[in-house]
Amino acid sequence: MKLFDAHVHLSDPEYAGHIDELIANARAAGVVALVTNSTDLKTCQSDLKLSEKYANLVYPALGIHPWNVNVLKENELEQTIDLIQKQKDVVKAIGEIGLDCKYETTWEKQMMVFDKMLHLAEGLGLPVIIHSRGTTDKIVEMLPSYRLKGVLLHWFSHSISTLSRAMDNGYFISEGPPATYSKGMREIVEKVLLTHFLTETDGPVTYWKRPYNGQLTKPSFIRNVVEAVAEIKNMPVDNVAQQIAENFEVFFNVKLS
Ligand SMILES: [Zn+2]
Repeated sequence: MKLFDAHVHLSDPEYAGHIDELIANARAAGVVALVTNSTDLKTCQSDLKLSEKYANLVYPALGIHPWNVNVLKENELEQTIDLIQKQKDVVKAIGEIGLDCKYETTWEKQMMVFDKMLHLAEGLGLPVIIHSRGTTDKIVEMLPSYRLKGVLLHWFSHSISTLSRAMDNGYFISEGPPATYSKGMREIVEKVLLTHFLTETDGPVTYWKRPYNGQLTKPSFIRNVVEAVAEIKNMPVDNVAQQIAENFEVFFNVKLS
């Protein structure tokens, strides 16, 4: 079974020194593609290097995360945009970008950076990977005014009504390990169109509940997610995995061998 991690942060300091081990673990578990999401200029540079080192396995999504808007260095936004434009042929998405209600003190700046990232995605014809904690309604409302190639709402946890609006707009959602234990997330998985669904770990995150028991995220957890989706949707696990593989190719415009 081929597995996919559509949203992970390989350049996060928590993974430092463990990437070779993580990649070996991913290959052993059947993970055939990981999209590493950057969060600032430094992680953009490092994610590009990782995608070179692990070509045809690690793909870069580059952008500025709303959590970093507050600590952007002088010219960092411009330099990040410049780097992404130069690397447009290897970049698979603009991400992780979005809005976070917990960081409302920088709301105007968050909006400014998010808008710049969305325009960048429009200009380059790339899909976007969205962080929308507490802001999903707002984002689903504002995105149709941009001409975007594709939208992935990662770790979607908002209401079923917002989910149906997102589905109507043709957006994708991705879910991770909580799909095995979270009632709310299982309801979302039940309702989501499988043709618009992707799996993720969002690593590094520590998932405390069973069957993860406080381990730092590993790509092998993706299998648990696929199995949970198959159980919730009452489908054979291989069919679920096959559909996710097709979705991955469509969304990120990659042809996997
Ligand atoms: Zn993330």
